[in-house]
Amino acid sequence: MQNSILDTPIEYLKGVGPHRGDILKKELQIFTFKDLLNFYPNRYLDRTKYYKINELTYHLTSEVQIIGKIIHIKTVEQKRGKRFVATFMDETGKIELIWFQGFKWIKENIQLNTPYVIFGKLNHFNGSFSMPHPEMELLSEHKQNLRSGLQPVYPSTEKLVQKNITNRSINKIMQQVFSETQRFFTEVFPTHLINELRLLPKNEAFLNIHFPQNSELLAQAEFRLKFEELFFLQLQLLSKNIVRKQKIQGFPFDKVGAYFNSFYNEHLPFPLTNAQKRVLKEIRSDMGNPAQMNRLLQGDVGAGKTIVGFMAMLLALDNGYQACLMAPTEILANQHYIGIKELADKVGIEVGILTGSAKTKERKDIHERLESGKLQILIGTHALLEDKVVFKNLGLAIIDEQHRFGVEQRSKLWKKNVIPPHILVMTATPIPRTLAMSLYGDLDVSVIDELPPGRKPIQTLHFFEGKRLRVWHFIKDEISKGRQVYIVYPLIQESEKLDYKNLMEGYEGISRDFPLPQYSISIVHGQMTPKEKDAEMERFVKGETNIMVATTVIEVGVNVPNASVMIIESAERFGLSQLHQLRGRVGRGAEQSYCILMTGNKLSDDTKVRMETMVRTNDGFEIAEVDLKLRGPGDIMGKQQSGVLNLKIADLVKDQEILKLARHKAIEILKDDINLEKEQNQTLKTILQKMSEKNIIWNYIS
Ligand code: ADP
Ligand code: MG
Repeated sequence: MQNSILDTPIEYLKGVGPHRGDILKKELQIFTFKDLLNFYPNRYLDRTKYYKINELTYHLTSEVQIIGKIIHIKTVEQKRGKRFVATFMDETGKIELIWFQGFKWIKENIQLNTPYVIFGKLNHFNGSFSMPHPEMELLSEHKQNLRSGLQPVYPSTEKLVQKNITNRSINKIMQQVFSETQRFFTEVFPTHLINELRLLPKNEAFLNIHFPQNSELLAQAEFRLKFEELFFLQLQLLSKNIVRKQKIQGFPFDKVGAYFNSFYNEHLPFPLTNAQKRVLKEIRSDMGNPAQMNRLLQGDVGAGKTIVGFMAMLLALDNGYQACLMAPTEILANQHYIGIKELADKVGIEVGILTGSAKTKERKDIHERLESGKLQILIGTHALLEDKVVFKNLGLAIIDEQHRFGVEQRSKLWKKNVIPPHILVMTATPIPRTLAMSLYGDLDVSVIDELPPGRKPIQTLHFFEGKRLRVWHFIKDEISKGRQVYIVYPLIQESEKLDYKNLMEGYEGISRDFPLPQYSISIVHGQMTPKEKDAEMERFVKGETNIMVATTVIEVGVNVPNASVMIIESAERFGLSQLHQLRGRVGRGAEQSYCILMTGNKLSDDTKVRMETMVRTNDGFEIAEVDLKLRGPGDIMGKQQSGVLNLKIADLVKDQEILKLARHKAIEILKDDINLEKEQNQTLKTILQKMSEKNIIWNYIS
């Protein structure tokens, strides 16, 4: 019953009709009564104050409202088109009201010498004021209407303005929808939750969000509706996670066997940090369960994720399964291979590598050993996903730097076995907690929030182009102490050619300023073959060259402990998380390391914040929070993913506390009643079912 009226098409609302209905659908995606109710104001204006015309000053930059009468109207022809002008007067003076478009309706309906309340922004010209496109309302109606001192302002579009669907019109149809539906809003929350959190009931929340009775009630209405929105998101994510765990069986790795134990007891190259131990425990307990693991391992650059991943692999091997690790670039895959092979050799494990550049013969060999089960660990790039790559029994798939891989690719890995392997996704791009909570609510998250001991924090400095000589001096000093230096240039797909040119020019300049035989320089860029890249990288890794000039191909993973300086050219062209990633290439040895951000002189406000943030902190999570504030969730997670969230009122940046509360409550309810079978949870269940029918959340692996 509730649905039937709230689902009524919007054109059937009195005062809307087919024509306006179409516009509302196209411009605001309002299709039904319910959509209209869920169309929330952007902000609220104080309408308790009525100005007299002689009180107006040009300091008044926001809207003002005035009571008065129209005493004269005229249409003025201009070269650029017509405008319609009304002279508006109160007992203290006159101003002009001006319409440039959509004034046919105004012209026909305006009443002369009748009290109106007008509302809008002022223009100030030659000591007199005018108000373009005011909102107008007869004083007599103004007094009767459902309203308060707080006037909601709804989002608008150009088309709406043209069609004369003003804020006032929205307000009017909102009143209409209230009078037609009010008694039908049913409460969605169980009474105990309403009482416990002292939530405003649904009816009052809707009423106060659209017609705030006072600011206290408005705040409560906002809280309630934001909480509701986030709560259902969490409920959906969490219950999916639980369902997945119930339904999707994985391999229970219940044995901790010889590989793990002998590595842990005899071959650990260093003591694990507490954070590493904790995370390893989480992974072990996950994989020890029959449910398939789906875990995100977050840890800042250099936090030591690799060894954790390796030890998880050992567990798989101990239980008779194979493991694989997929990295986004060839360089990174190689580096992982070298590092992991070194560890694996100690306990006698066979490790292979498969990348795009593998020769046919090597490939065949890998395929065979993999299928027979002889090869226990396979490391590689996207090449792992090819159909020809068949495991005997893949038990654990690790994905490094997941931001580079799409969901589709992840699910390909997943299908490599009849029973899906456990999945561990490692990322060095810290995702702000709130985002992780709302987007990966169905993924379990482990965080390594502690760096291995003995690292000196990297010092970050920002220089304008004019200070380049000083920077070069500094590099020479460092090189004379035996250190190595990265100089990184931007590489952005759209302007690849230009970037290449910049890189080459930069390289020539550097070659001149750091001449042979005293200095030797490596260069790595996207136009080289993987082989050439590796050879150059190799020279730098071995310390044969002092300087590595590169585009951002070295961004992820590369490990050269002797490199102590990272120069980032045109740093203004990098996003915060990229800058942070690049910086993470240094500071891996015992020496003091530096990151130098080079920029032009003119910086946008955002860029200034980015540079200041980098200089101020090394904490990847703090940086991620700033990034989230600067760019919003859309840009960080990709439009598609955040668009799916489609939050109408809550804001992932501003409403973190509400999000936490919502998550906490959702967990509490699910713990108590996992399938939402209790009487009190029936409304929750219905809403949840509707949400999954619409498939609101897609972002999980299966
Ligand atoms: P990331 O998390 O960025 O992938 P790595 O796993 O590459 O970091 O580790 C960075 C460096 O720190 C490596 O040289 C690794 O051997 C070293 N490392 C990792 N854990 C520890 C530890 N507990 N103590 C000392 N060094 C460690
Ligand atoms: Mg790594």
